[in-house]
Order: sequence, then structure tokens, then C-alpha cells
Amino acid sequence: MAEIIDGKAAAQEVRGHVRREVLEFETRYGMAPGLATVLVGSDPASATYVRSKRRACAEVGIASFPHELNERTTLDELLALIGELNRRNDVHGILVQLPLPPHLSAQQVIAALDPRKDVDGLHPVNQGKLVQGLPGLRPCTPLGIMFLLERTGLPLAGADAVVVGRSTLVGKPTAFLLLERDATVTLCHSRTRDLAHVVQRAEVLVVATGRPGLVRGDWVRMGAIVIDVGINRLPDGTLVGDVDFAAASSRAAFITPVPGGVGPMTVAMLLRNTVEAAKRQMEGQS
Ligand code: NAD
Repeated sequence: MAEIIDGKAAAQEVRGHVRREVLEFETRYGMAPGLATVLVGSDPASATYVRSKRRACAEVGIASFPHELNERTTLDELLALIGELNRRNDVHGILVQLPLPPHLSAQQVIAALDPRKDVDGLHPVNQGKLVQGLPGLRPCTPLGIMFLLERTGLPLAGADAVVVGRSTLVGKPTAFLLLERDATVTLCHSRTRDLAHVVQRAEVLVVATGRPGLVRGDWVRMGAIVIDVGINRLPDGTLVGDVDFAAASSRAAFITPVPGGVGPMTVAMLLRNTVEAAKRQMEGQS
């Protein structure tokens, strides 16, 4: 039976560490690290996410600068706000909650961020640094995944790692972070032929597709580490991942639950990235 990876406990550990770093930062620079959050429109799920990020900031002593814009905000107005936040010395991180309303291009908005303040790690400069293995801000969910993998204590170097899902937000950056840790990485997507066959050889399996139950338990290699990133709400209201948890647990050595696995790590890593970004800006690093 698999050991359940406790994402909540891991996230608490990261938050505790961030809290101490915030105190050190304040002592040294006489100000708190600051995170601006930008929410456009009134999508209830996005509003909930942003609220939980602001609450998490408050808990660790990061100053929050909330900006809520109405649904009809133009690209020029949004870019003007980003420009202002880029210039402010008390704002070290800027988070634009996605998705944006359809008339706004997320790509254009993200490209307008100062890469040093891009705490979601989505700016092309940061994604380029990730591909080149250079230091830079990395996307939060992939960082959370790596933290959980490392916490298992199993070696990643040389391991057969399979990532299912190739989004810019999760799948692709996770593949590069695994590569950075010397895993042998296979990146699968909706056009992958015979997914079951590829998944079966994974010693490390990361699934981020948003397709409930896509990965069957009997596909999981005996002794594998399974990280299920998916968050899917079923018609009866329950939350499930992309992996058949019950069946996979009888084969894996470690597995993340949904909820309580990767989810809490994403916010914890956002806090860590904000402090990291603030320190680098104060030290004058790019
Ligand atoms: P996305 O829709 O951008 O990408 C989905 C990926 O899955 C695509 O690359 C697609 O090719 C692949 N895919 C779809 N169907 C497939 C199939 N049948 N076989 C193989 N691959 C297939 O999604 P995303 O933003 O990467 O998010 C994925 C899931 O992770 C969602 O459920 C999302 O809610 C969740 N998520 C969770 C967190 C967290 O904090 N836990 C953060 C981000 C996303």
C-alpha cells in the first residue's frame, strides 16, 4: 500500500521557512516583501484563488497589494497598471490571476511583467531561463511537485520519469525541472500513442491533464511515485484527480491525494517565489 504524500504538511513546512525569511528580510531592509495580485472580472473560482493567496501572504508577513478590475477593463488599462506595479519599489512580485476575460491576451499581459517580479514564472524570459538551466523564477505548481518528490527521499537521477500533460503552466516546466535533476523524462500529451504503455515504465509519474480517472491504477508501475496534479469536480461535487487513486495506491510506493496533495504546495511556492524575487531585487540581481 502506498504511503500518502501529505501536501498540507509539506506546505506548512515551506510556509514556516518563508515566515522566517520574511522576518530576516524585514530586519535587513526595513520593509516586507510585497506581492501585488491582479484580478480582472468576477469569475468566482478565480476570486476564491486570489483571496486564498492574499490570506496566505498575510499569514507569513508578505505585504499584499490587491487590485480588482472590472470585466470591461481594456488591455491598455491593464498594461498601464502592470507598468505602474513594475516601477514600484514596495512591490516585488506581481501575480495576474488567469484566466483573463476573453478580450484580453494573457500572453501580452505576461510579457509586460518585469521578469524579476514574475512570481508565477510564466514570462518568456523566465521560461527561457528554465530551458537553459539558468537561475530564474520557476512556475509554482511544478516547484511544488519537485518539493514533494524530493521529500520522498528517492533518487531522481537516472529515474524514468513520465509527465502526462504539456501545458506551459504545469507539464512542460515540470519536465524541465525533472531533467535538471537528471531524470530521464518522457513528456506525454493528448496525441501520445498508447499512453498506458508509456506510463507503465514510469518510476516517477506526474499527471496534469484535468481528465478525471485518465490514468488507471493497473498502469502504475509497482513502487512508483505518483504525483496527481489534476483537480476535477465530479457532478456530485466531490473533487478527484486524474489518477484512479484507490487502484493506484495498491501499486505505488508514494502517491499524492486530491485534495491535499499538490494543491496546497502551489500557494506555498508562490510565497517562496515572492521572497526569492524580493531578495534578488534588493541585491540588484537580474
Ligand atoms: P491544460 O488543459 O492546459 O493542459 C492539459 C494537458 O493534458 C494538455 O497538454 C493535453 O495535451 C493533456 N491531455 C489532455 N487529454 C489527454 C489525454 N487523454 N491523454 C494524455 N494527455 C492529455 O491543463 P493544466 O493547466 O496543465 O492543468 C491540468 C490539471 O491540473 C487541471 O485539472 C488543473 O485544474 C490542475 N491544476 C492544478 C494545480 C494545483 O495547484 N494543484 C495547478 C494548476 C493546474
